[in-house]
Amino acid sequence: MNRTRIDAIERVAARKETIGNPKFELGDYGSDVFSIECMRERLPKPVFKTLYKTITEGSPLDASIADDVANAMKQWAIEKGATHYTHWFQPLTGATAEKHDAFLEPDGSGKAISVFSGKNLIVGEPDASSFPSGGLRATFEARGYTAWDPSSPAFIKRHQNGATLCIPTAFCSYTGEALDKKTPLLKSTQALAKAVKRLLKCFGENGGLMPKVTLGPEQEYFLVDKNFYFARPDLVQTGRTLFGAPPPKHQQLEDHYFGTIKHRVLNFMSDVEQELWRLGIPAKTRHNEVAPAQYELAPLFEELNLACDHNMLVMEILKQKAEEHGFVCLLHEKPFAGINGSGKHNNWSVSYGDRNLLNPGNDPHQNAIFLTTLCAVIQAVDRHADLLRVATAGAGNDHRLGANEAPPAIISIFLGEQLTDVIEQIEKGCLKSSKHGSLMKIGVDTLPPLPRDATDRNRTSPFAFTGNKFEFRAPGSSQSCAGANIVINTIVAESLEEIADELEKFPKKNFNEKLQLLLQKIIKEHKRVIFNGDGYTTAWRKEAAKRGLPNFPSTPEALGAFVSEKSKALFGRFNVFTEAELESRYEIFMEEYAKKIKIEGELSLSLARTVIMPAASKQLAELAKSIVDQKNAGITAGVAAKKAMAETIGGLLDNVDSCCKDLEDALKTGNQAPVVKAMAALRHNVDALELNVDDELWPLPKYREMLFIS
Ligand code: ADP
Ligand code: MG
Repeated sequence: MNRTRIDAIERVAARKETIGNPKFELGDYGSDVFSIECMRERLPKPVFKTLYKTITEGSPLDASIADDVANAMKQWAIEKGATHYTHWFQPLTGATAEKHDAFLEPDGSGKAISVFSGKNLIVGEPDASSFPSGGLRATFEARGYTAWDPSSPAFIKRHQNGATLCIPTAFCSYTGEALDKKTPLLKSTQALAKAVKRLLKCFGENGGLMPKVTLGPEQEYFLVDKNFYFARPDLVQTGRTLFGAPPPKHQQLEDHYFGTIKHRVLNFMSDVEQELWRLGIPAKTRHNEVAPAQYELAPLFEELNLACDHNMLVMEILKQKAEEHGFVCLLHEKPFAGINGSGKHNNWSVSYGDRNLLNPGNDPHQNAIFLTTLCAVIQAVDRHADLLRVATAGAGNDHRLGANEAPPAIISIFLGEQLTDVIEQIEKGCLKSSKHGSLMKIGVDTLPPLPRDATDRNRTSPFAFTGNKFEFRAPGSSQSCAGANIVINTIVAESLEEIADELEKFPKKNFNEKLQLLLQKIIKEHKRVIFNGDGYTTAWRKEAAKRGLPNFPSTPEALGAFVSEKSKALFGRFNVFTEAELESRYEIFMEEYAKKIKIEGELSLSLARTVIMPAASKQLAELAKSIVDQKNAGITAGVAAKKAMAETIGGLLDNVDSCCKDLEDALKTGNQAPVVKAMAALRHNVDALELNVDDELWPLPKYREMLFIS
């Protein structure tokens, strides 16, 4: 009998919760961050002033203050127990990277001193040859540079036996091309901020404030017990189950969503949150998600660059803490077939001072700014839906988008009934009534009344307006927030610049009238992207095709848009990506996709042949022997049933064998589409076997166990 699976269940059942000693006080919030306050306390006044300007206004870093900052940072980190420092960056692997150096250096007399200079703080030179560059950097020129990003504060990462000072950095090649996700993100934010400033100026807002892009990323994840995880080579190697029949009970009773959180899970969540709070990450909301064993963590929104860094840390800490609690945290977009996958809802907005531009305001002036921003986003999303799709592409997310649990791969905007009504009125040029809800006093006839509280929701929309922000729901749970927001920032910047080009020409006396005509024109041109209905239906797919909206179901189909002339012109204009950077990223994403599919294909094949087929043959052999034994003993009852079982299992075994051959051939072609197809056919038969083979002989933990036993 195969013991792996049964052992795993027994070990999970016998597990005793270790009760920690959680003690978190409000004052501990942000205690592991070298915050503005820390800097103010520890830096000479003029140094602090210069640095503060860099941080808050994005002015260039003054290298002459680096030594002072480094020294203060080092002292602080050592007091916190750090022995090492590292530049912490986000290469194109999708993860974060770090290379630690000790503060300690021998002083020549047999003793040691601590060393950390301004240069150590500002630049690093990690060997870049093993990071993806998509051909940007010849391997003989292996040098890469990391450069300090003062807008994201340094922090301490702790482990049981020590701590490390982490310095958020950008990562680029010897020749200056970006090799990371942070650099283009910062550039896109700058482009957007500039465009917003220009727009606001058209509305007479000349303040010196820098517009701020904000992000609140909701993070979904699964937890499975480590014992099951280790008994599933597919989870270990690919992050998802390549086989597994859906259990009779999964999520259909809807009893998990917002259900009582199990104490074992809650203990884990509390641990995660305390760690996040110490790092100044405002984890706010926790709950059970729709699928069994699925959960969500949502932070309060923050400035975009910081929120992106924080989300990388959230993913890392979820994984680490899960380990400590005997779980494994799965961030894959679709770990279990037939059950909801995990996304990362990207809540995006822009603010200026204490005003959110996507907040319908209380006065006509603010409403005009709101409607203009809204129309700019509509125009941007319609023009560049293909790029938004690129930003969410990936082998994992392909299983999720369009699987009737996540938004479809067709990008459309949900505005809600009330706002759509307003938009339709602008389009028609009659702007004096609103269909629903309380109306706002606006006092100017030429502007429409705005719904105060557009709270209706639509889970099926990829890009939904949710009252005061846009929620882009397509990004996958494992993806960095950078990709999606680089695109959103840049396309909205383009749209705003174009609108500002017009507004700047409008005479003051009939500015509002002219503005209205402009918005009317934008809506007429781009309203096809607005869709408030059910995005899961085939009717929408047809309708979207009729409207000419792009639909790229798979990653290789989607990625082409990244290197189109349109994309090159857009990103080039805003200095976000050079052509070479776009081409290299395209290469990297295509290659990553190909590698992932190849790994999945090879593992499917080897699991089918070395784990699944032997289990089925064993049962077949037992049945055959037992049928012969019965014949010899002269017992006929039950023989027919056994024969039927043997025929079913034998038939499926033959199917699996032939699917394996197909998969093997598909793998030889080097193309992904036939591999994906052959894997699906193989899985179909393996899952059928799971439902027929003796439970005791089945080697892999089943869905009903992984998702329900913890
Ligand atoms: P939901 O109903 O979608 O769960 P929530 O109110 O929980 O909505 O908000 C989801 C996320 O949106 C949170 O992370 C929240 O901080 C974020 N959010 C709220 N306002 C803004 C904003 N102005 N800019 C960016 N994100 C925001
Ligand atoms: Mg949400």
